[in-house]
Amino acid sequence: MQKYTYDPLHLFIDGAWLEAGSRDTSAVINPATGATLGRLPLATPADLDAALKAADRAFETWRQTVPAERARILKGAAELMRKRSVHIATLMTLEEGKPLSESVDEVLRAADYFEWFAEEARRIDGRVVASNRPGVQQLVKRQPIGPVAAFTPWNFPAITPARKLSAALAAGCSVILKPGEESPATALALARCLDDAGLPKGVLQIVFGVPDMVSAHLIASPVIRKVAFTGSIPVGRLLSERAAAGVKPITLELGGHGPVLVFDDADIDAAAIGGAANRFRGTGQICISSTRFLIQRNAYERFVERFLAKTRELVVGDGLAPDTQVGPLANPRQLAKMEALVADALAQGAKLLAGGKRMDRPGYFFEPTVLAEVPMSARIMHEEPFGPIAVLRPFDQLDDGLAEANRLPYALSAYAFTRDARTAIDVGDRLQAGMIGINQYRIVATELPFGGMKESGHGSEGGTEGIGHYLTNKFISQA
Ligand code: NAD
Repeated sequence: MQKYTYDPLHLFIDGAWLEAGSRDTSAVINPATGATLGRLPLATPADLDAALKAADRAFETWRQTVPAERARILKGAAELMRKRSVHIATLMTLEEGKPLSESVDEVLRAADYFEWFAEEARRIDGRVVASNRPGVQQLVKRQPIGPVAAFTPWNFPAITPARKLSAALAAGCSVILKPGEESPATALALARCLDDAGLPKGVLQIVFGVPDMVSAHLIASPVIRKVAFTGSIPVGRLLSERAAAGVKPITLELGGHGPVLVFDDADIDAAAIGGAANRFRGTGQICISSTRFLIQRNAYERFVERFLAKTRELVVGDGLAPDTQVGPLANPRQLAKMEALVADALAQGAKLLAGGKRMDRPGYFFEPTVLAEVPMSARIMHEEPFGPIAVLRPFDQLDDGLAEANRLPYALSAYAFTRDARTAIDVGDRLQAGMIGINQYRIVATELPFGGMKESGHGSEGGTEGIGHYLTNKFISQA
C-alpha cells in the first residue's frame, strides 16, 4: 500500500503551535495496524492557564469584530478545508480508521458547517419592544456569551469540532477546544485552516491532555462562560456537575441506542439493505447509528435474510484500501467491549447470525455481528454498543414496537419504515428522539438541528438553532 505521512502534533495556544518539549506525551496509534503515528503533547496546568488568558483577552476584540469580518474568516477557512480535504481525510483515516471516502465526506461536511455559520453570523438580530412607559426605548440584544470550553470525541474528529467551533466563532466567542486524544491531527488541521484564513491569535486554542484534569481546570475557571461536550453519558453528567458549580450553561450530545421500526407494509429490502450499511458504517461507532432493529412479525423473515446478505458482503479492512467499507474499531477499549457484549448476549440465549469475534489480523478489527432473539436481560438491550453489532427483534402491534423503541433513557435518533401515511405520522409524533428518519437512514444536514432528548443530551448544534447557545440575551431600557 502507498506510504502516507502523518502531520506533526502540537498544542495551539495564543496563535502559537507548541511542540512537546518537556511536556508528557501520549502515543497516537493507527487502529488498522497498531503502528504508532506520532506523539501528542499533553497540556500542563500552566498551558491551560495560558489558553484561558489568551481566550479571555481575544474574546474582547473578537466580540467587537463586525459579523461580516467574522464571516469572511470562517468562509475562508471553509474554502481551505475543501482544498485540503484529501490531506485532512488521510490524517483522519490514519488515526481513526474509517474508510478514506467517508473521511473526505466528513471534512467536506465540516467545511459546510463553517460556511453555514459564517452566514448565520450576519443574521444575528435583536428586538425593539414597545414600552408601557412614555419616552422609554426597550432594546433586546443578543451578545456572545463569552469564552467557551468545548470537548469532542475521537469518532468524528472533524465534524464534532466543526459543529461547536463554527457556531461559537460565528457568535463572537473565543474557544478552547479539547478534541479526543486518539485522533488529534484532524482537529489541528481544521485549526490550521482557521489560522491561515486569518483568525486572530487567541480566539481559538486547541489543547490535549489528561481529559479529566483538562475539563476540571477549564470549567472551574471564571473565564469560561459556556461548556459544550460530545461523548458518553457518564462523562456528560460529570461535566454538567462541573458546569453547574459555576452556573454555566452546557450543551450535551451524549449518544444513543437508535431503534428502527420496520412495519409489514414497508419496503423491506430498502429497510434491511440500507439498515445493514448504516449499522456498520463507521464500524458502528456513530451516536445516531441504527442499533436496535424492531421488525413487525410478517416482515421479520425477509428482513433478516436481506440484512444478513448485505452484512456478509461488507468488505472489512484498512480504511486506506480503496475497496474497504468497514474499518477497524478506534481503540482496544472498544474491542474488549464488543467481546463482552457478545459473550453476555450468547450466555443469555441470543442467536448469533453473523460475526461475533475479533479478526485475526493486526489492528482493532471486529467482525460485523448480527444477533437475533436477544433476551431483554442482555446488556446490549440496555447499553449503547458503539461498535459493529446489530440486534434484531420481532414485534406485533404498533404500540408494542413504540413501547420498545421508547423504553431506554437514550433518545437521540430513531428510524421507521412504512408505506402507510397514517403510521408515518403516528411514529413521527410518538417516537422519543431528537432526530427521526422515516423511510431513510441518512438524516443529518447542516441546516437541521442536531441533538437529543432524555439522557442523550440537550441543546442542538447546527441549523438556525445552533448559534443561540453561544449568545446571551441582554435588554437595555433607555429613558
Ligand atoms: P469516554 O466517555 O471515556 O470518552 C469519550 C470522549 O470524552 C473522549 O474523546 C475523551 O477524551 C472525552 N473525555 C473522557 N473523560 C473526560 C473528562 N473527564 N473530561 C472531558 N472529556 C473527557 O468514552 P470512550 O471509551 O472513549 O467511548 C466509549 C463510549 O463513549 C461509547 O460507548 C459511547 O457511548 C460514548 N461516545 C459517544 C460519542 C458521541 O458521539 N456521542 C462519541 C464517542 C464516544
